[in-house]
Amino acid sequence: MIIVMARGASDADIAAVVEKIRVAGLTEHVSSGTERTIIGAVGDERVLTADMFEPMSGVERAMRVVKEYRIVSREVHPDNTVVSVRGVPIGGKTIQVIAGPSSVETPEQMAASTRSVSAAGCRLLRGGAFKPRSSPYSFQGLGVEGLEYLQQAARAAGLPVVTELTDVRLLDTFLEYDVDVIQIGARNMQNSDLLKEVGRVNKPVILTRGLSATVNEWLMAAEYIAAGGNHNIVFCERGVRGFETAYRNMLDVTAIPILKRETHLPVIVDPSHAGGKAWLVPALAKAAIAAGADGLLIDVHPNPSEAWCDADQALTPSELATLMRELAPLAEALGRTL
Ligand code: PEP
Repeated sequence: MIIVMARGASDADIAAVVEKIRVAGLTEHVSSGTERTIIGAVGDERVLTADMFEPMSGVERAMRVVKEYRIVSREVHPDNTVVSVRGVPIGGKTIQVIAGPSSVETPEQMAASTRSVSAAGCRLLRGGAFKPRSSPYSFQGLGVEGLEYLQQAARAAGLPVVTELTDVRLLDTFLEYDVDVIQIGARNMQNSDLLKEVGRVNKPVILTRGLSATVNEWLMAAEYIAAGGNHNIVFCERGVRGFETAYRNMLDVTAIPILKRETHLPVIVDPSHAGGKAWLVPALAKAAIAAGADGLLIDVHPNPSEAWCDADQALTPSELATLMRELAPLAEALGRTL
């Protein structure tokens, strides 16, 4: 950490900062210029925070040199991590497309959705049983019954499932139903209690970016999970809130290469929740793959206009099949496979 002293800071102010650095177990490097003094704290600065110094007399500001996150950081782990979901690798050469309905509705709807997901060549099935909706009057998901239908369809097709955990009290139920990947949704990205609990289980986690979370906050949320011992984390970009009203969210394509540089963990993109319209999904999906995403999370429904949730953004089975065909040469051009 670097502590910049204000002009006119007294010797006593400088001594107090040095003392605080030493008490924290670090050593100081004091550099006195013509106008101000700069003090470097040498050692593991993660035990220090800027607000330990900024309120002190004579301190102008304090800045970190190293990043706050460490387990998820590429600095600490230079090689890409491949998260294996029942043998399906996420983060390797193969781009994984996770597809399925936004919400689980009926056994028939799940069976038809699963058939279309398998037929299109996708290797993981998504489906929401617990739906965090903006309105309390909207369909909230079938709950445990939804997990039942999801698993029935998935196991029959031999596909691993991804489903969202909204409440820490449901974790045991998710484990009982042997959910393969726990999704933490945008609204819960900074629910630290939930993050800590999924950090203690041995299940891959998809960590969706919060609606207005910075990349740093997102990485710190992942660090919460990793700090509990669970390093099987996949980041999912799904658009952030912008000023534009022509579409639902602004897909932050730039975040993809930034994350790939900052972390060794896989990064996927949800073009369905980003655009909010089915017709936007192919373009956003292609942009995501071109920018280096390791996979996609896509809504598909056997009959989108009848969907109980997110009807506007669901692809039809044939649109999903077409998109998969269009993505294959793009993946190949990028040295990857689909
Ligand atoms: C979802 O995937 O169904 C979902 C609700 O995603 P998000 O958390 O991105 O809104």
